[in-house]
Amino acid sequence: MVNTFIISETSAYVNDLPLLGKVIYIDPGHGGRDPGTSYGGLLEKDLNLSISFKLRDELMSKGALVYMTRESDIDFSSRWDIKKKRGDLYRRILMMEKASPNIYLSIHINWYDNPIWRGAGVYYHKINKKNETLAQVIQAGFKEDLNSKRSIKQTDLYLYSNTKINGVLLECGYLSNPNERYLLQQDSYQKEITKSITKSIIKYFSI
Ligand SMILES: [Zn+2]
Repeated sequence: MVNTFIISETSAYVNDLPLLGKVIYIDPGHGGRDPGTSYGGLLEKDLNLSISFKLRDELMSKGALVYMTRESDIDFSSRWDIKKKRGDLYRRILMMEKASPNIYLSIHINWYDNPIWRGAGVYYHKINKKNETLAQVIQAGFKEDLNSKRSIKQTDLYLYSNTKINGVLLECGYLSNPNERYLLQQDSYQKEITKSITKSIIKYFSI
């Protein structure tokens, strides 16, 4: 008797799933009472969530198990928090640490007073030795795929300095730059960003 093993044409082979076994936590920045940066009615928190959903789809299509700190317009501050923002970030850290992911990716959009500034940039904290390498790999991808001239920078912000999980802050572009503001609202450009990040993550895990 011959055992037959039928694979439908839509099945993915393990070779096509380079992120199989990897756990990735996406943190869409801001939400709820905290809009982040804004331009008129255009709010960073909404763009962050939209990009994060696309990033989740892209990472999952490569086999990763993906968690998100939020999937709707909420924040995690408590009515008892004296510092609401700190309470929100503290609970995001707790959520991520509970899942023990291989990496986390915090998704944000930047703003600068000079509208000429543009380009996606990666920020990292030295609390985890691997963070700088992860930042370099993703930044190189942004240069290649999105023509970003930015270079990696260190951050001392609360969330990144208070978790030892390997991860970075991704500022996907500048809302203050008219051209990038237009691009960041386009589904096609949001997908380009997430494809670039995913490609870099695959590269990072192969180093
Ligand atoms: Zn932000």
